[in-house]
Amino acid sequence: MRIEVQPLVGFDQLLTYGVTEKFFARIKPGCLVQIPLGRRRVLGVVFSLDSKEEIAADKLRFVSHLVQEEPVLTQDLMKLSKWMAAYYSCSMESVLGAMIPAAVRDGMREKNEKLIQAKSKLESDIVNEALKRSPKQKKLFNFLTAQPVPFRKKDLIHGHGFSENLIKGLIVKGLAVETAEVINRDAYDDDLDFEGVDAEWELTCEQKEASTEIGKALEREKFGVQVLHGVTGSGKTEVYFEAMEAALAQGGGVLFLVPEVSLAPQTVSRLRARFSKTGEQIVVWHSHLSSGERVDAWRNLTTGKARIVVGARSAVFAPISPLRLVIVDEEHELAYKQEDTPRYHGRDVAVYRAMLNDAICVLGSATPSLETFRNIERNKYKVGKLLNRIDGRKLPLVHVVDMRLDARREKGTPILSQSLLEAMRQRYEKREQSILFLNRRGFNTTMLCTDCGWVEECKDCSIALTFHRTDGYLRCHLCGFRKVAPSCCASCQSLEVRRKGHGTQKIEDVVSSLMPRRAKIVRVDADMMTKKNLFRETLRDFRRGKIDILVGTQMIAKGLDFPNVTLVGVIDADLPLRMEDFRASERSFQLLVQVAGRAGRGDRAGEVYIQTYAPHSPSIQFSRKPDIDGFIEEEMAMRRELAYPPYRHLIRHIFRGRSLEKTEFYSNEWRKLLDAEPLTGVEVKGPALAPIEKIKGYYRVHLFYFTGSIQTTLSGLAKIRATFPLDPEVHDILDVDAHQMS
Ligand code: ADP
Ligand code: ZN
Ligand code: ZN
Repeated sequence: MRIEVQPLVGFDQLLTYGVTEKFFARIKPGCLVQIPLGRRRVLGVVFSLDSKEEIAADKLRFVSHLVQEEPVLTQDLMKLSKWMAAYYSCSMESVLGAMIPAAVRDGMREKNEKLIQAKSKLESDIVNEALKRSPKQKKLFNFLTAQPVPFRKKDLIHGHGFSENLIKGLIVKGLAVETAEVINRDAYDDDLDFEGVDAEWELTCEQKEASTEIGKALEREKFGVQVLHGVTGSGKTEVYFEAMEAALAQGGGVLFLVPEVSLAPQTVSRLRARFSKTGEQIVVWHSHLSSGERVDAWRNLTTGKARIVVGARSAVFAPISPLRLVIVDEEHELAYKQEDTPRYHGRDVAVYRAMLNDAICVLGSATPSLETFRNIERNKYKVGKLLNRIDGRKLPLVHVVDMRLDARREKGTPILSQSLLEAMRQRYEKREQSILFLNRRGFNTTMLCTDCGWVEECKDCSIALTFHRTDGYLRCHLCGFRKVAPSCCASCQSLEVRRKGHGTQKIEDVVSSLMPRRAKIVRVDADMMTKKNLFRETLRDFRRGKIDILVGTQMIAKGLDFPNVTLVGVIDADLPLRMEDFRASERSFQLLVQVAGRAGRGDRAGEVYIQTYAPHSPSIQFSRKPDIDGFIEEEMAMRRELAYPPYRHLIRHIFRGRSLEKTEFYSNEWRKLLDAEPLTGVEVKGPALAPIEKIKGYYRVHLFYFTGSIQTTLSGLAKIRATFPLDPEVHDILDVDAHQMS
């Protein structure tokens, strides 16, 4: 018997292998097998149970081992992997690497972690005596005793730099023990005591209507995409849950995607509360899972014990079968786009996977992406709207604070305006809570006149020029245009053309110095995310009212629901606006609407202060109401005019190399080739230096292709690339439907 196997490493195409008849009976498509490849033995996935390839009997090699009887890939995932490799122009190896977690590849067996723990109840004299002449062991011992939990041996060695011998030494002295058990296989302990997670409500009329629509779509048992466009606090989650019940009742499974699991603790708790009652197991899929937890999660799904998965981007590959419903919450979020190979967009893959299964995909957001609006416009997606907040709660009152006035008054660049400060003081006196929000995703390397709000833009690309510190030039990173950075504002001749923003630390300091001393101010930022308990504890303290003011970056912008928050301040609304990206305005609008949505979710109305140097920009004006339709109309018109996405696809081609000269040389040569034999229907921009011109010692130069068809463009590029004599020290990659411009 001959079968086709896709190796997980080393070879990017299906290979034919032989199997004995007895073996053949046990193998199914999607099974993980071990195969000889060259001189190595590697893992591979069985893609087909017959092969047309003629191979002489003496050349045929045989599958050596079936890793486990249950397939690791469902039929639809196998199809999906092929589509992804083609659409995102990446190897099968990278796609399968993303689909099959390492823990599963390692053989599906439960993996016991080696744990190290200091012995308890030791006399301190004995310990001191034993460690007297060994300061290193003493350091390790102190480290182990500082926390009563066992440590993973791996982490001690790789994370904290203790050597294997050192650990052994401590064990030999009887001061520590090694155990081998799996510490915590329950992937998610809801220790966030949300009030009312298990409440049951009568659905509002709007919610009912939206649910009925999705319900009907589910009954048709055909593929369809339903956009749920609902203002913040309109009760979208409840609509998702209704749809889930319908899908489960049909005997199908549900995939629930959120941008980032640790930012959606309430959603997870509500899911648990609602579906555990009926005996459903819910698999929480996130990046912190230990290999044991991941194997468990995986097995619960492949055996059909669990039918609900909630997780971030990579959960889109969870082996649920049959899949009836895919929900993508906050579908506009950037976090769905993976910025490493394979550079896929989780939302788009979700839609494709739903299609492969004749399932329904629900895309929910208060501020859907322009890509999604375009698909609604073209009648590819249906849309249902929730226009009102639950219980008719009002959307917050939004004040736009013109920072140019404060800047003139105070000289320099003030962090807090008088009006926002005054509002925060009032909240504090009333024992209400505030959130101060700062966006730091940009690089703050565009120039901004703090006197008049002027920003220098590229005349061809209508994006802000970026300032490069190394040579003092302003550059357009789309087309490569450059000019010497001016020392004063071109519009009002002011010398206040600043190039830097503030960090959260600075803001915390300033706020602390200006607020009453007893006010409790806590900062959350991305560093905190690495310590997930710290972040959750902070949220819990905030919920319990132990914190008056929470200062943070985009991570506190969405999803969280704190009833006592009545004030939200946006410190520098211009940072995303000034980003050197044609999506800057869209992102800035989405962010402002989401942030504003954090205020006034309880009984009291909320207020929002947006500090800006560009008070008249559309993303700020439209976000006041918010007037989503107005914004979309204007922004769509702009994109249509420039033929930017969503009117065309965008492929970003990045060249990377240690030598700037070489990297620039080859990207210029490449452009010359494209000009000599233009690809039909493709507009090329660049090469240009990327805004982040160097990462980890590698210079980055990129080109952009605007095109109506990914497929023809990719095959055209591949043809030219095949004979392009690229220097071995310069690498290039394609980013299809690129979102990151930096
Ligand atoms: P969204 O995701 O649209 O911002 P949520 O789904 O988080 O909104 O709902 C907002 C709040 O309203 C939540 O606290 C939720 O518990 C509550 N809620 C949802 N539906 C109802 C309802 N039908 N009746 C009363 N409260 C509801
Ligand atoms: Zn340009
Ligand atoms: Zn000016």
